[in-house]
Amino acid sequence: MTLDLHDYVASIPDYPEKGVLFRDISPLMADGEAYHQATDQIVQFARDKGVEMIVGPEARGFIVGCPVAFELGVGFAPARKKGKLPRETVKAEYSLEYGKSALYMHKDAIKPGQKVLVTDDLLATGGTISATIDLVEQLGGIVVGCAFIIELKDLHGRDKIKGYDMLSLMEY
Ligand code: 5GP
Repeated sequence: MTLDLHDYVASIPDYPEKGVLFRDISPLMADGEAYHQATDQIVQFARDKGVEMIVGPEARGFIVGCPVAFELGVGFAPARKKGKLPRETVKAEYSLEYGKSALYMHKDAIKPGQKVLVTDDLLATGGTISATIDLVEQLGGIVVGCAFIIELKDLHGRDKIKGYDMLSLMEY
C-alpha cells in the first residue's frame, strides 16, 4: 500500500519566527514505512542516472541522503557548516533572509568526474542547495540530480536550480 506522505508532515505556525509555517519531517522519519517509501522514491529517481556519490547539506540533508546512499551502494559526503570538518575544505557562501552563511566540504570528498545526487529535506529559496551544488562542482563532480522530500512552491527555489534534474516528493 502506498502511503500519503503528507500525513507524515507536521506544520508548525510561527516557527522559527512569526509568519513562517515550518514543515517538519520528523513524523515521516519516525515512521519506518513512510521513511522507507520516501527513500525508495528517491532511489528510483537516482537509479538510471549512474549516481556514484550522494551529497547532502547539514543536517537534514544527511537524514535524506544517507539511506539513499546505502540502498544504492554508493558513498555519502556531507556539506557542513563552518568549523565542523577537520581537513582542508572548499567553501560556498549563500544568502539567508538576513545576512550570509556558508557550507564547506572536504577537498577530497568528491573525485573529479563523479556523478553526484544532491539531497535535502526541503527546497525553499534554493540558497542551500545552490551552495551544495557549487561545492560539488568546485570539486569537479557532476550533479546529475537534486532530490527533496518537500518543495515550497511559493519561494521559487526551483528557478535557482534550472538545468538540473530534480525531484520533490511533496509540494506545499
Ligand atoms: P533554502 O536555502 O532553500 O531557502 O532553505 C532550505 C533549507 O532550510 C533546507 O536545508 C531546510 O532543511 C531548511 N528549511 C527551511 N525551511 C524549512 C521548513 O519549513 N522545514 C524544514 N524541515 N526545513 C526548512
